[in-house]
Amino acid sequence: MDCIFCRIVAGEIPAEIVYQDELATAFRDIRPQAPVHILIVPNQHLVSIGDILPEHNDLLGRMFAVANQLATQEGVAETGYRLVTNRGEQSGQSVYHLHLHLLGGRWMRWPPG
Ligand code: AMP
Repeated sequence: MDCIFCRIVAGEIPAEIVYQDELATAFRDIRPQAPVHILIVPNQHLVSIGDILPEHNDLLGRMFAVANQLATQEGVAETGYRLVTNRGEQSGQSVYHLHLHLLGGRWMRWPPG
């Protein structure tokens, strides 16, 4: 499959991987929007949150637990961080493989621009 995040998960193209297990992989965003900007992705190809079914409960739980663990490791758990997932064109989704953005290390605007 010609999916850049599938290829990162498979180790076929380089990325700064900070976590990997049998369900999920996390790596640093190539164009960081904050001092901490990590993407947490399922190892299996799901296009977006719009593909999520009850059978993915364990996977989603794992992705959030990994985000929590990485936020602590990166030193932003106490100062605060944002988790974002985009679905579809108007949201700004540019890579069509489900991912959580973990953003921290600076003040965030609300609502997001
Ligand atoms: P989204 O706009 O929500 O689909 O986010 C996709 C994110 O993937 C963007 O923040 C990109 O900077 C990031 N990205 C694209 N290609 C790569 C790559 N090869 N390695 C790491 N991050 C990437």
